[in-house]
Amino acid sequence: MAIYSAEHRRLMRMLHPADHQDYSEVLSSLGAFMEKEVLPLSPKLDSGEASIAAPRRALFEQGMSRIPFPAEYGGLGLPFSVYAMAVELLGTADASMALSVEIHNAVAEGVLKFGNKAQKEGRLEGLLTGKTLASFALTEPASGSDAGTMATSAERKAGEFVINGSKMFITNAGEADVYLVFAKTKKGPSCFILDAPAKGLTFGQELKKLGMKGSKTHEVIFSGCTVPEENLVGEEGKGADYAKEILHGARIVVAALNVGISRLAYDKSLAYAKERKAFGRSISEFQLVRAKVADMKTGIDAARLLYLYASRVKEMGDDFASEASQAKVLATETSLRVCDDAIQIHGGYGYTTDDLHRHWRDARLLTIGEGTSEVLRMLIAKREMARES
Ligand SMILES: Cc1cc2nc3c(=O)[nH]c(=O)nc-3n(C[C@H](O)[C@H](O)[C@H](O)COP(=O)(O)OP(=O)(O)OC[C@H]3O[C@@H](n4cnc5c(N)ncnc54)[C@H](O)[C@@H]3O)c2cc1C
Repeated sequence: MAIYSAEHRRLMRMLHPADHQDYSEVLSSLGAFMEKEVLPLSPKLDSGEASIAAPRRALFEQGMSRIPFPAEYGGLGLPFSVYAMAVELLGTADASMALSVEIHNAVAEGVLKFGNKAQKEGRLEGLLTGKTLASFALTEPASGSDAGTMATSAERKAGEFVINGSKMFITNAGEADVYLVFAKTKKGPSCFILDAPAKGLTFGQELKKLGMKGSKTHEVIFSGCTVPEENLVGEEGKGADYAKEILHGARIVVAALNVGISRLAYDKSLAYAKERKAFGRSISEFQLVRAKVADMKTGIDAARLLYLYASRVKEMGDDFASEASQAKVLATETSLRVCDDAIQIHGGYGYTTDDLHRHWRDARLLTIGEGTSEVLRMLIAKREMARES
């Protein structure tokens, strides 16, 4: 299987007529690495027989986190659409690694956008090369979609902020070196860089999940955890705006990740349909199976086009929040249908084979994480209702 396929190459040619060959070189080299080093490991990441740490580090060494960042910080300075497609490829190779990496990169984007010169110079090189790993700590035990009601506090005391509270469902927690933490000061939700290990920073038990098992998820607990004043990101009280903007970009990438999951479930289904026989014929000859194949393929292509469209709107510097949300809603919900159809096409083997039903289990997270489908539909509708023409 070529993870970076002829279809991807053609889309790059359409989107970037002048530079597509250079971009395709980057994507095909990353795709080849993923095919060899990540895809075969994926069932073991799901079963817990292998750890994500070493292959993720190797992937960072291949430049996975450098793609959309400026050259002055060690990035490749390539368009966001190229990065989003790289995450699609990684979603095909292993969804849990794609989740871990996209959250890491979202933190790097936050530091680039809202951090000061010293924060960028101190953190970005490590994040872009993957020498350090990042984690994004917004959700709390009692506040998710309604993040503005966070209870975690940061009190200013003698040149430091003292953080108390906890964050729930945090990806990369326990492994990360850099945490982007959102906590309330007197001026409202604010954003901090917390370097680990730190006094007063501890983690709950690893959470047991339905899917995305290669990535680690923990509660993060702050008990009098101190960060120096200079680790405040941007303006005090603006943390909620920063979190929203980071999440808008991440939603495009999550859409891409889901297209990657769908594509592998689809490819497996197509191969199985051709090989499995019933009533003396290949099941691929039955119209009801063919209808599933047609719907799966159409859904995947539509979702891919929409995340690429949202990426291009972002690249143009326009407001892309609604397009990002549309892309995420379509791709995540399509992915659930595609992975469900994949189980159906595989019959009893679909229900009993980890390596097949894990695609549905992995995809299931992402109508919830990084903005639920319900909340994103509200965002899309709000913008539409406010539009004048
Ligand atoms: C595996 C995993 C990894 C995660 N990683 C991270 C991470 O790295 N960092 C981080 O900060 N968070 C992370 N999260 C948290 C994730 O982003 C939240 O779970 C998500 O935002 C939803 O919040 P919640 O779980 O509190 O659900 P709630 O907000 O309590 O929502 C519960 C239900 O109510 C619905 N609902 C809420 N408000 C409305 C409304 N106004 N109208 C209609 N329906 C509504 C929701 O759509 C949902 O169906 C992760 C979660 C998981 C499961």
